[in-house]
Amino acid sequence: MILQNKAEDVLAKDRKYVWHHITPYNEEVSPIVAVEAEGSWITDINGKRYLDAMAGLWCVNVGYGREEMAEAAYEQLKTMPYFPLAQSHLPAIQLAEKLNEWLEGEYVIFFSNSGSDANETAFKIARQYHEQNGEPSRYKFISRYRAYHGNSMGALAATGQAVRKYKYEPLAPGFVHVRPPDSYRRPAGQSVEEFNLQCAQAIEDTIVWEGKETVAAVIMEPAITGGGIIVPHPAYMEKVQEICHKHGVLLIIDEVICGFGRTGKKFGHMHFNVKPDIVTMAKGLTSGYLPLSATAVRKDIYEAFKKSAEYGHFRHVNTFGGNPAACALALKNLEIMEKEELVERGRILGERLLEEMKELEAHPYVGDIRSFGFLLGIELVEDKTTKEPASAARVGRVIAECKANGLIIGKNGDTVAGFNNVIALSPPLSATNEDLEFIVTTLKAAMNKMI
Ligand code: PMP
Repeated sequence: MILQNKAEDVLAKDRKYVWHHITPYNEEVSPIVAVEAEGSWITDINGKRYLDAMAGLWCVNVGYGREEMAEAAYEQLKTMPYFPLAQSHLPAIQLAEKLNEWLEGEYVIFFSNSGSDANETAFKIARQYHEQNGEPSRYKFISRYRAYHGNSMGALAATGQAVRKYKYEPLAPGFVHVRPPDSYRRPAGQSVEEFNLQCAQAIEDTIVWEGKETVAAVIMEPAITGGGIIVPHPAYMEKVQEICHKHGVLLIIDEVICGFGRTGKKFGHMHFNVKPDIVTMAKGLTSGYLPLSATAVRKDIYEAFKKSAEYGHFRHVNTFGGNPAACALALKNLEIMEKEELVERGRILGERLLEEMKELEAHPYVGDIRSFGFLLGIELVEDKTTKEPASAARVGRVIAECKANGLIIGKNGDTVAGFNNVIALSPPLSATNEDLEFIVTTLKAAMNKMI
């Protein structure tokens, strides 16, 4: 633990030198400066402990403090710390094979560093694939409003949240958005299934209206996570795949958050009867311990690239992508998940969390509670009948109250679009029963203080 005056020193330096990600400048609120972490808990510079119910940024799936992972990276750093994947190395080969097992299909893996990288890679592969197949006019991507796909000019263009984009436009051209299957806000009188099928149909309409020979791919998460935990009806995803097949459009599934057990299955798309053409992944691949991402491409799409002439190969390189230590650490991460059956544990914990939280449905400010494995969203409203989104102040009070009591939770929305009202939980899959109890009691107490 660090002495008080030392902590103040550190905070002063933080204010002076560190540009915090996606956080408003506010001298009155000190950031948590994390110094230690173990299991689901982190300790800050003042010695205060917090249960991290967001697992960092939805990524620390195996929990903090896994020495075996640090050792795996250390051993690899000593043996062979770096070599570019223009050629190859053992950890990348082993990890690519392992990912095929997890994906239950035949995929060739392109390694990068971040979720944004993985999606940019997928977009370039999709465009070049069509070009090589004699359809160079297919350059557009269809994604959904409220989705988040990354911070770079293409991945941000795919993103469907105005708040993240409007200061940086124009972004990459060629991205078209459609309505997400937000069943809570479906038109009155429609069943969830009908509404979801209508949302899927909107994708087909868009393909046709845009000119089907101009559309390269559809990109979507199995469930929208950062945009407010929007979980589709199973019929939705199956229909989306059917539409893609019908029109020769590739289906890219972004598993950056939903992958690696987060949803109670190995990958989120495995809840539905679909086989994606391209799967992108990051976060839980290393549980956030080191940067690493992957774009898994159906084998026959890769084969199409083999046929191309010398200058036609995939001209995409990523200096740090597939760093050997990151790959070795990812392998250890997956080994831990298998040994401790964390995918199944996530499913069980997710069910229990939902069961406990259901009680909040009667709360005057709770409009909807939805979950997908060990992901939970609580949509706060000012009025249950009109569904007017809860004010930023109200949502902020719940978050601040949880933080004061040692619980970190998340919040999703789009302030430019006029709402920022979904509380999100995505705890480590390794959370203990006591951790779950702490999350439930602390969040319920914070919510009940609002009444
Ligand atoms: N896709 C999804 C679904 C994400 O949630 C994120 C990040 N939150 C990204 C892509 C981008 O990942 P990164 O921040 O690693 O670039």
